[in-house]
Amino acid sequence: MTLGALAMRPRKRIALIAHDHRKLDLVEWARFNREVLSGHELCATGTTGGILAEELTLDVHRFRSGPLGGDQQIGAKIAEGEIDLLIFFWDPLEPQPHDVDVKALLRIAVVYNIPVACNRSSADFLISSPLLQEEYQASVAAVAD
Ligand code: PGA
Repeated sequence: MTLGALAMRPRKRIALIAHDHRKLDLVEWARFNREVLSGHELCATGTTGGILAEELTLDVHRFRSGPLGGDQQIGAKIAEGEIDLLIFFWDPLEPQPHDVDVKALLRIAVVYNIPVACNRSSADFLISSPLLQEEYQASVAAVAD
């Protein structure tokens, strides 16, 4: 194993995803935190992104809908070092058709050591961290060839 570093700039690239029963929760949270979010680059899975862009009147880059590959697209961006933070309100009470993609996304977020919030209080702690506005080096363990 070798240790690399993922450099995060003060303007973070934030991915937002919510399963259907958690979308209202995410929208409320994002509305409350609109001002802070407006200082960062936002992306989201398709439906979540559409709702957020409308509610926040901010630019939100939209990937495909989660069940159609959006989670995998965001996972690929994390692996390429293009996403700094993941806010992922997944549904703990309902099985999803793309459960394997959800698992893969959460796994890759841990591999690349990016901050992940899966519920509102974690997201509150994350968005109020002073590190959100600063440069940060996340150490990443990578398998040496
Ligand atoms: P959606 O996808 O934003 O397109 O609803 C979220 C998900 O189910 O992973």
